[in-house]
Amino acid sequence: MEMSPRVCSIQSHVVYGYVGNKSATFPLQLLGFEVDAINSVQLSNHTGYPVVKGQVLTDKDFDDLVEGLLGNDLDIYTHLLTGYVGNLTFLDRIASFVKHVKEKNPNLIFVCDPVMGDNGHLYVPAELLPTYSKVLAPLADILTPNQYEIELLTGCTIKTIEDAWAACDLLHDRGCKTVVLSSTDLGDSGHLLALASSRAGDGVKLTIDIPKLGASFTGSGDLFTSLLLAWSYKSNNNIKSAMEKTIATMQKVLQRTEQYAKAKGVCPKNLELQLIQSKRDIEEPYVAIRAKTG
Ligand code: ATP
Ligand code: PLP
Ligand code: MG
Ligand code: MG
Repeated sequence: MEMSPRVCSIQSHVVYGYVGNKSATFPLQLLGFEVDAINSVQLSNHTGYPVVKGQVLTDKDFDDLVEGLLGNDLDIYTHLLTGYVGNLTFLDRIASFVKHVKEKNPNLIFVCDPVMGDNGHLYVPAELLPTYSKVLAPLADILTPNQYEIELLTGCTIKTIEDAWAACDLLHDRGCKTVVLSSTDLGDSGHLLALASSRAGDGVKLTIDIPKLGASFTGSGDLFTSLLLAWSYKSNNNIKSAMEKTIATMQKVLQRTEQYAKAKGVCPKNLELQLIQSKRDIEEPYVAIRAKTG
């Protein structure tokens, strides 16, 4: 019998709502993945609410979990997914873990969301940047920065699509196989533009228009990365198909979320992703928007 793909996902956990592992686990499971979640923090809710309470997984806590996995030979993964990390010593441990699981399975796909900030605003300590740029990005099979994050990683200012391709090429030169910009302001009016550049196989560069919704969502970046991981695998690394399916699901989830918030009143609680309600759109995305070769 064929083995299910197994992803180790190191991200935030929230009790209420959907960011980090809460946003990534359900879609990955629906799409056939075993998900081994390591919760880097456990918070009552995401940081957009007036009150946030909870715990941070310490370096020792992380070492203990890894020791347990290794002790039982459970550290065999097809994928490793990392998202928000708040401090440097934890990021260093993740870097060691990436190297370890890649040694155990040389075909392992490392999907790294280098979460550092958005719209010119840094929300992790600046000291994380050198590790993301020199250690993790080169190890990444798929890297999913937003526009601001790729600027940080490469030192390039992204004002045009050509700037974005040049920045992706710099990351490829450092070893990163596929770079996906989940959202940029390089689109036509009323649209965000996502871009994907891959040096795996023949190499491909493509863009996809994303109709921009009025609301501002939390957890959407984490959902995007989990869907991209899933569809890259299921399409046998066909990045065009993976991007189209990912965006198709994203649009449905976010439209449903926006409708709900409009009906109930726009506030963080009512803007939590309508993920469970979107089960069918996750399982069988209907592709209405095609990617263009760039
Ligand atoms: P990262 O987590 O890599 O830092 P991010 O959190 O900035 O990225 P988002 O800006 O949330 O990522 O974009 C991820 C995806 O969410 C986009 O590709 C898009 O499909 C969707 N998205 C987010 N906001 C909107 C919006 N206002 N309108 C339409 N789609 C959106
Ligand atoms: N993790 C936590 C705890 C958060 O509070 C947030 C955003 O507020 C995120 C992750 C990231 O969310 P997004 O997917 O929108 O980048
Ligand atoms: Mg964003
Ligand atoms: Mg994000």
